[in-house]
Amino acid sequence: MTAIRVQKYGGSSVADVGRLLRVAERVVEAKRQGFQVVVVVSAMGDTTNRLMKMAHEITPEPPRRELDMLLSTGERISMALLSMAIQAHGYEAISFTGSQSGILTNDRHFEAQIIEVRPIRIQDELARGKIVIVAGFQGMSYKREITTLGRGGSDTTAVALAAALGAGSCEIYSDVDGVYDADPRVVLDAKRLDSLGYDEMEEMARMGAKVLHAEAVRFAREHGIALYAKATAGSEGYTLIRRDLDAEPKTKMAITCLRPLCWLSVPYAEADEAAYQAQLAAQGLHPSLSFWGGQQIEVAFWRDAYPELDAAVARLRWPAIAEEKAVVSVIGSQSGDIAGALVRANQAVRGILEAAQWRVWTAPLRMSFAVPLACADDVQRALHRAFCVESLGA
Ligand code: ADP
Ligand code: ASP
Ligand code: MG
Repeated sequence: MTAIRVQKYGGSSVADVGRLLRVAERVVEAKRQGFQVVVVVSAMGDTTNRLMKMAHEITPEPPRRELDMLLSTGERISMALLSMAIQAHGYEAISFTGSQSGILTNDRHFEAQIIEVRPIRIQDELARGKIVIVAGFQGMSYKREITTLGRGGSDTTAVALAAALGAGSCEIYSDVDGVYDADPRVVLDAKRLDSLGYDEMEEMARMGAKVLHAEAVRFAREHGIALYAKATAGSEGYTLIRRDLDAEPKTKMAITCLRPLCWLSVPYAEADEAAYQAQLAAQGLHPSLSFWGGQQIEVAFWRDAYPELDAAVARLRWPAIAEEKAVVSVIGSQSGDIAGALVRANQAVRGILEAAQWRVWTAPLRMSFAVPLACADDVQRALHRAFCVESLGA
């Protein structure tokens, strides 16, 4: 049987027709090498953001079902154009939406999860020798509604298809040639990590390293899919994420940043706790982070997960202080020396912020700082210096 290659090209890789044509050449090259090829595409450039903006110009609270109908069109544009470009090279290709590809999800609009993949139509077309192009980021719920998989979700489409087709690995192409020890756009001396385990990668993705979608990494772990993070153009370098790398001693650290977060602080007495929680639930608000205790509740919402956030928060009518924040994290095992790591991190952050301006907490694979949004880049650079540069030199 011919080996299957699953490739995913992100928004910047298909941002205009010229780039799309170059992607078509890469895809055709894989076909020429003798592979069966499945290609997952994201919406062109900033299409998804533009569609979101239009929805918000109409209403501060776009219904999630209609948002899914709207946003899923971005990927449909890319898939159709790429299929045309491949056919123009003289190769047979066919494009499919998520639902045509058999991607079945739960019914949670805007942040749906894949529950099953039945890629029958894809397999049929591959058997006929066609290159199959799939619109990323979308599926169909068991109620036959169109759903989307959360911002950045095309990676998850690709990994889920790789698993369902028995591909064993999945190539994720973007504007960076792999996973770095910090966002290379913010930390200019960030270094590419050659290889990583699923644990660290998933933690990095959940805490804001958007080069890979966290759900994609979770899926890859569950199905043993090796992930290659590569650049569409300009570099042959890459990062490999694979199961056996989880067991290797973790010596490298990485810095991530999750933003923007709408952070609410409310004075409260413990007796009010149940009432506050009920109000959050009534507005469908499940905080991305929350701290309950002392005389204050702090709840934070990652804006990318809540398209209707401002309207829902206004309805809470809490006497809250609302701030825009970021959570900057140091990811990696601290070799057991959490206290030492905290001292070092505090020293780094203290150069930028007053003590009252940040909050720190730890989890098994990370240490996280909530900081004012405006300082997030400086904090990433300072923590990178303290944990990724100085510790390497030591
Ligand atoms: P695509 O649109 O191709 O899916 P994304 O924009 O989702 O690409 O992800 C690539 C971006 O992720 C890069 O441009 C980079 O700025 C950002 N990024 C954040 N953290 C990291 C990291 N640790 N390593 C590499 N890139 C990162
Ligand atoms: N186009 C979607 C987004 O911008 C999905 C993706 O790019 O993976 O979030
Ligand atoms: Mg992405």
